[in-house]
Amino acid sequence: MGEEAIANVLVFSFPIQGHINPLLQFSKRLISKNVTVTFLTTSSTHNNIIRRATAGGAAALPLSFVPLDDGFEEGHPSNDSSPEYFAKFEENVSRSLSQLISSMKPKPNAVVYDSCTPWILDVCRKYPGVAAASFFTQCSTVNAIYIHFLRGEFKEFQDDVVLPAMPPLKGGDLPVFLYDNNLCRPLFELISSQFVNVDDIDFFLVNSFDELEVESGFPASTEQNINFQTTKRYLRKSKDIRSTGEHPKVLEWMKNQWPVKNIGPMIPSMYLDKRLAGDKDYGISLFNAQVNECLDWLDSKPPGSVIYVSFGSLAVLKDDQMIELAAGLKQTGHNFLWAVREMETKKLPNNYIEEIGERGLIVNWSPQLQVLAHKSTGCFMTHCGWNSTLEALSIGVALIGMPAYSDQPTNAKFIEDVWKVGVRVKADKDGFVTKEEIVRCAGEVMDETSEKGKETRKNALRLMEFAKEALAEGGNSDKNIVEFVAKIAR
Ligand code: UDP
Repeated sequence: MGEEAIANVLVFSFPIQGHINPLLQFSKRLISKNVTVTFLTTSSTHNNIIRRATAGGAAALPLSFVPLDDGFEEGHPSNDSSPEYFAKFEENVSRSLSQLISSMKPKPNAVVYDSCTPWILDVCRKYPGVAAASFFTQCSTVNAIYIHFLRGEFKEFQDDVVLPAMPPLKGGDLPVFLYDNNLCRPLFELISSQFVNVDDIDFFLVNSFDELEVESGFPASTEQNINFQTTKRYLRKSKDIRSTGEHPKVLEWMKNQWPVKNIGPMIPSMYLDKRLAGDKDYGISLFNAQVNECLDWLDSKPPGSVIYVSFGSLAVLKDDQMIELAAGLKQTGHNFLWAVREMETKKLPNNYIEEIGERGLIVNWSPQLQVLAHKSTGCFMTHCGWNSTLEALSIGVALIGMPAYSDQPTNAKFIEDVWKVGVRVKADKDGFVTKEEIVRCAGEVMDETSEKGKETRKNALRLMEFAKEALAEGGNSDKNIVEFVAKIAR
């Protein structure tokens, strides 16, 4: 860092891979702007996180890791979604964070916290001068959809939703929690809680970039049909939805009501502006990536010939879906690299690895950024987790969306219909995707010569340029980070 620190910030992430990655990346950006960062872990995950801070990544950073007591034994699964877990987690982490801040001299300038832990605002408010910055790991469009829902502007399980500045949304395009009867209620509560006190936070940081959200803008032709007077269960001081003009864009609509700042994409600098020396990976991997195996195999394949397949760190495919997907990938005739988490491998068909031979490689965890950036990768079949989506957009890779959970269907909708950087598989009414559909989608995206293939690649490259510009010096996200630091510094 060199120069004297101008601010001191605590950063807290929910201890799951898809949240640690962007918050750690944001920490690196703060450090590069002369801010001292303490990355807060939880007592049940601390040792694992420290062990997994990769040598070239987090272990080399001028950043300290401090555990907060979460009340659970070491190794307790951090994807526990029982109400008891969330309640105990909140109680213990709140207390432990209060103790930490009380003991600090001087006090931190701000706490940047995962939006899924909104109660951290209450802790911050006990200490005047400690700003509260809620960090959203999903895009503004998804945030806006949740907010419209929580305001009562459409109902759960509604199949036809028209919202300002968005394309018409079918039920299956909405975040799963708003449409699926079988969803996990406590997780829905957790997701909804992100917005419970957004009227009071000091900073509303979003892991996205302006051009992406502006691109979401659609004229809201049926705006007048929406009932704006419905109960505001969550948002106490909400302003008139139409206050930015006739057809506000999503980002504009959000900014008009809260101090929303896009600061993303929060992926390693090497894939964007390259201003953070040595910043090649996130720095903490809770899974062991089979780096050489993937890269050597990719090296052996022709440029653009490989479908990379991964469904992130949490998604669980049904047994019959896994078998169908396996058959579909085989039938595409393309090479494919498939990251199948260890606990999912038992669902693969017998002898599958032998059958696919050199045409396919199955690993438990890939170095995803390196795979996406490899010249042999022709497209990315993804569950459309927001990090995976941002990574592909930033690296300019065309997508096949096969969403499953949370905000993934909405991301998939935007990938196909708004940003036009890929296709989305069509599932039947039970959510099942056939092998023929997988073959169809692979054919569309992998064919670089078709009109669709050309358009998809052109759009992917255009968004890639916007992503890079956003974090280059003076880019929108970079300016927002500079402004954040200036505001909290004292
Ligand atoms: N990831 C990876 N290797 C894999 C699968 C995923 O490095 O084999 C990383 C990926 O780059 C991304 C994160 O894990 O940063 C997954 O986050 P995302 O939001 O896409 O999905 P989630 O895991 O939260 O469902």
